[in-house]
Amino acid sequence: MYDEILLTTDGTECSVQAAKHGLAFAEAFDAAVRIITVINVQAAGGLFDAGGVTADYVESLESRGQKMIDEIADLAAPTTTVRTEVLKGIPSDSILEYAEKESFDLVVLGTHGRTGVQRVLTGSVAEHVIRHADVPILTVRERDERVEPSFERILVPTDGSEYAQQAVEHGLSVAEAFDATVHALYVVDTGIIAPRLEDHIPETVRAALETEGKTAIEAVESQARRTSVETVTSLTEGVPEREILAYADEHDIDLITMGSHGRTGLDRFLLGSTTERVLREAPSPVLSVRKPVTDE
Ligand code: ATP
Ligand code: MN
Repeated sequence: MYDEILLTTDGTECSVQAAKHGLAFAEAFDAAVRIITVINVQAAGGLFDAGGVTADYVESLESRGQKMIDEIADLAAPTTTVRTEVLKGIPSDSILEYAEKESFDLVVLGTHGRTGVQRVLTGSVAEHVIRHADVPILTVRERDERVEPSFERILVPTDGSEYAQQAVEHGLSVAEAFDATVHALYVVDTGIIAPRLEDHIPETVRAALETEGKTAIEAVESQARRTSVETVTSLTEGVPEREILAYADEHDIDLITMGSHGRTGLDRFLLGSTTERVLREAPSPVLSVRKPVTDE
């Protein structure tokens, strides 16, 4: 599933945490990793009133970048092939361009998690890459506890769409690699039918959605049967992102694997609203998978 994994660092503790997760993936999948950092020379140049950026200064930025990269490379398993590169440019653009040019199978990004109302995907870097990249992305939010990556329980929320189906495949592969259990979850979306009357959905509508949910969950189970992965299934009712987050919390989920889009599937929205909200608040890392355009 993953042969080449891209790790990005800006030297922050958060990016180191994310990289550790990426390295765990690399080890489990026997993938090669590339570790990069992007030096924004132009922004750094803004510090100088006149005269621009000196070659010495650029050099010092480069060696600082290389140090940040090396710190992560040192954490790699001895069996993992590691290559590194210091890039110059605007971080969000450079990472995106690099990920696509070199066709990585997975990009790992750290996001600064803040509890509460604040936006979680900080700086535009993670957000920009998640919205625009065609590559599956593993985002790891900054958090205090559970720093060592472990993947025992993987949540795969599905709305039965092809996007979700794509994510199921990733969830199962990851589960196989880490010998984890997959939790398939379908949420009967009460919000779309009766935003104000969550408890009063017409019975016929609820029944239809439940049937759809069962089909979606069975699809996961039948896919899982082709592997050695154990599955647990659940069908709940409510607002999808809230149910997904609550489930992840209650079941101590280690990874959520979901589609970049779902049933609405409008590409003009660069990211589906369920995934966007889960990314902002997830207690665990999230692997978001975009459906390849070629499949359409
Ligand atoms: P939107 O709902 O914002 O109009 P969308 O339907 O294209 O857009 P999302 O709802 O964000 O996109 O779907 C993204 C992913 O979220 C899906 O691939 C699936 O993994 C998960 N998901 C969405 N809805 C549900 C649901 N009702 N139950 C379980 N998982 C869901
Ligand atoms: Mn949706």
